[in-house]
Amino acid sequence: MSILIYAESAEGKFKKVALELASYAKKVADAMGTTVTAVTVNQTNATELAKYGVSKVLKVSNDKLSPFNAKAYADVIKQAAEKESTKLVVLSSTTDSLYLAPLVAVSLNAGYASNVVALPVSTSPFQVKRNAFSNKAFNITEINTEVKVIGVAKNSFGLFESETSLTEEDFAPSLNDADFGVKVENIEKVTGKVTIADAEIVVSAGRGLKGPENWGMIEELASVLGAATACSKPVSDIGWRPHSEHVGQTGKPVAANLYIAIGISGAIQHIAGINSSKVKVVINTDADAPFFKVADYGVVGDAFEVVPQLIEKLKAF
Ligand code: FAD
Repeated sequence: MSILIYAESAEGKFKKVALELASYAKKVADAMGTTVTAVTVNQTNATELAKYGVSKVLKVSNDKLSPFNAKAYADVIKQAAEKESTKLVVLSSTTDSLYLAPLVAVSLNAGYASNVVALPVSTSPFQVKRNAFSNKAFNITEINTEVKVIGVAKNSFGLFESETSLTEEDFAPSLNDADFGVKVENIEKVTGKVTIADAEIVVSAGRGLKGPENWGMIEELASVLGAATACSKPVSDIGWRPHSEHVGQTGKPVAANLYIAIGISGAIQHIAGINSSKVKVVINTDADAPFFKVADYGVVGDAFEVVPQLIEKLKAF
């Protein structure tokens, strides 16, 4: 009756969230006197998981599962949970897992709590602390169903090494053709760029940049820092930047270690989506811009003067 995690991977490597999830589940398993089992999909080498406390891996290899398909993956996790008689399934908060979690919960007749930010407050009754109201408050949620599913918020826990001996097992769940009703035919990938979801650092810019022709310095700053680029909603609405870069309450959530906001006023809907980022830096000409209230560091200044200097300093660093 181990705890089950879904360890996400891409291009043959585990994503950082998978290792975070393993670290989290190991601490919960220790408190509950059990172990951690991971289910992986089309990932040949699973040994890295042992470093973070996983003691068993169910390896699923099936070409039909590439690319990601939420219904089919939910089915895989359900069957893995049933095979292991698990009572607790722990997922992350990536776009894929946010899509998967409710499907897994429904299929297992389980209660589901998303946005979990800490180890369970209590394991019996099972209570977890969650972000609520666009990360402005916390609540304690109790799950009373026999099987429970939780989604751990990105960057809320960190990595903790806990070397464990690992058993690897090939697992071939039966896949239902109906799961593949929606077929992804083509995924266009931007190469060489860090995606917002995986980024440790995000460089984001807003209407203060005046026009799309001025994004060169934002791209350059991001490249120097190994960061992803993002933007405010109006910027993507006007078409200065692609919609995929829109962050905030109605855009992508950002939980980076460092979020740099350039020429963004800091409207409540923007802050709601980036508030989980650890360190927030603001560059804005207006000292009264609301963003400064939530910033850890701020520069009151013109982006067109500050950003080039910042790039120069970072390059010399
Ligand atoms: P502005 O508000 O125009 O701010 C531009 C800033 O740039 C100003 O603070 C200005 O002082 C500064 N500036 C100007 N020139 C310079 C310069 N040379 N150097 C440095 N700084 C300069 N917004 C989001 O971003 N994400 C969302 O998900 C989102 N969802 C929304 C949902 C709803 C239902 C609604 C009603 C709104 C939503 N919005 C969202 C919009 C939000 O309310 C703001 O309108 C938006 O965030 C403002 O974008 P901005 O900061 O780029 O532009």
